[in-house]
Amino acid sequence: MTPTTTPGVPLDPLAERALIAETLIASAARLMAVRDELELVRGVCVAMCGASQHIRLAWTWFGDEKSDVIQPQAYAGVASDYAARTLIRRSRLTEPGPVFRTLGGKAPEQFPVSLDSPYGPWRELAQAHGVRSVMAVPLKSTLSGMGGLFVIYADHEDYFHEVGESLFTALGELFSSVLTSLAERTTLEQAVNHDALTGVLNRHALPIIERRLLRRTPSDPLSFLLMVDVDHFKAVNDKLGHAVGDQVLHKVATALRGVLRPDDSVMRWGGEEFLVCLPGTQHEDALLVAEKLRRAVAELAGPAPVTVSIGVAEVMAGRALAASIDIADQAMLQAKGAGRNRIVYRD
Ligand code: GH3
Ligand code: MG
Ligand code: MG
Repeated sequence: MTPTTTPGVPLDPLAERALIAETLIASAARLMAVRDELELVRGVCVAMCGASQHIRLAWTWFGDEKSDVIQPQAYAGVASDYAARTLIRRSRLTEPGPVFRTLGGKAPEQFPVSLDSPYGPWRELAQAHGVRSVMAVPLKSTLSGMGGLFVIYADHEDYFHEVGESLFTALGELFSSVLTSLAERTTLEQAVNHDALTGVLNRHALPIIERRLLRRTPSDPLSFLLMVDVDHFKAVNDKLGHAVGDQVLHKVATALRGVLRPDDSVMRWGGEEFLVCLPGTQHEDALLVAEKLRRAVAELAGPAPVTVSIGVAEVMAGRALAASIDIADQAMLQAKGAGRNRIVYRD
């Protein structure tokens, strides 16, 4: 074996492997009790870096394999500040960094690190934290399109050869399976709370939105509800068919979403009815937003020009949200009665 050139604690590979394995097994019961998968991965990294002074950093990223942004989500070790700062945009890489070439690959890869590594961030790690080798383990998922990386940085150049890759590959498999189950749950929650046709939220999401809107006392910030109903939509279906009607609904939902701030939400309330929620909004702003929404729909190009009638209501402090939704609904019906393609505010 090549002698290591790293100053510091000498490496006893067998003792090292046993130490890491024992630490992980000893903390397994505690780690498995963690309910959040990402916390579990972080816990394993913390236990591993805590047990061995040779491991300077361990981090994982898991997500859409094609995602442009790659950023460590769980990390531990004395060089954690490096992981905390790392954010890679693949589109901006002229040449992918060595670790990222492993992404989507089948086997783990190892890379030497030295004070004159050609890859800039590693020179820094070598200098600041004595890092001399890196191992990147690709995370594979049974969920299609998902994948990730588990990356470990050690202070001896032959660390992974000498200690053995198998322990780290096995941890990579554990991470792949827990992070896959996290991704599955997120996808499922997304499907449950979103409307398949229009992509906006559905009524199941109301309890989540309600928390952002509810006002316990009159001094809480104002919030508004907008009931948006497509005018004469039945005629669109009758004239152009249900499939075109579906396309129009999708366009309307996208137009509404496009006008709003990230904190606002659009819910498909019924067939051609949308509930727009504006948390932390002043009265004049709520009316301005309503007008922007009305205009955005009226200006849509497409197979059938449509308009919307909008009812605006303030979320009442200390009252159930349903009461304010009813008022927005009555205001919307009033807008229909007054000729449609307009906004009515009711308090
Ligand atoms: P108003 O201006 O009074 O709101 O008239 P309207 O025709 O929009 O209202 P009405 O309630 O009479 O009809 C709503 C229509 O919306 C009838 C229904 O078939 C249609 N609709 C509801 N959901 C969907 C859907 O998912 N896709 C399609 N294509 N049509 C839908
Ligand atoms: Mg309608
Ligand atoms: Mg309706």
